[in-house]
Amino acid sequence: ERNELCPTFASKYEIENLNFNFKNKEVIKNCSLTINFGEIIKIIGPSGSGKSTLLDVIAGILPPEKGKFIMDGKEFSPYLSRDFSSLVGYVPQFISLIDESLSYNITLEINPDKDKLWNAIRKSQLTKFVKNLAYGMDTRLGEGGEGISGGQRQRIGIARALYRKPSLLILDEVTSSLDNKTSSEIMNQIYSMRGEVSILFVTHNSNTLKADKTYLLNKGKLIRKNKI
Ligand code: ADP
Ligand code: MG
Repeated sequence: ERNELCPTFASKYEIENLNFNFKNKEVIKNCSLTINFGEIIKIIGPSGSGKSTLLDVIAGILPPEKGKFIMDGKEFSPYLSRDFSSLVGYVPQFISLIDESLSYNITLEINPDKDKLWNAIRKSQLTKFVKNLAYGMDTRLGEGGEGISGGQRQRIGIARALYRKPSLLILDEVTSSLDNKTSSEIMNQIYSMRGEVSILFVTHNSNTLKADKTYLLNKGKLIRKNKI
């Protein structure tokens, strides 16, 4: 039952000594991380090092083996807190699409707020894509979204996260299916939200994007790096 309270993210989200196991294998080992509100944090690390798993635990999608989570000074469970899930906008590595309209795929609402929707579309660089669709926002995407490119799918995922106006935006390899131009445009949009939202993103490509803090995840261990 998701009922633990966690109504705000005003100053900091602290994660202490987090462990996550998968089938007796320690995937995340004793990781600690503090996300100050408004910060941009980058985690780099090779494929298989546990980046996506760590994000899943931080976002409250997977329950940890062990660990302490403190929001604005109060201990809580990200896995159990429904309030917390409404603070988070998560763009996973693989975006699932539903056999519904584009509008529904972004908002997950039947009567979405049009201004918020267009704002999310614009920030995700989807404006042209929407304008070229036969029925615009009402165009049905079809099962699994056939005919949608990897880059479009990823931008729909970004729009879905932004529509929620999250306090914590979590991005997993978000530019991996995008060309350089589109990904730098999207990152500029995301950086322009600096201060209004905290951003945690992972990438296997260390030389891409700037951040306030950079960490390296190596075989499940998180290490703070000096300015990269
Ligand atoms: P990264 O995102 O850095 O590539 P992942 O978090 O996807 O790394 O995976 C790290 C390790 O977690 C994998 O090597 C795998 O052994 C393990 N793992 C965690 N959850 C699962 C799962 N549901 N299915 C299979 N392997 C998993
Ligand atoms: Mg991954």
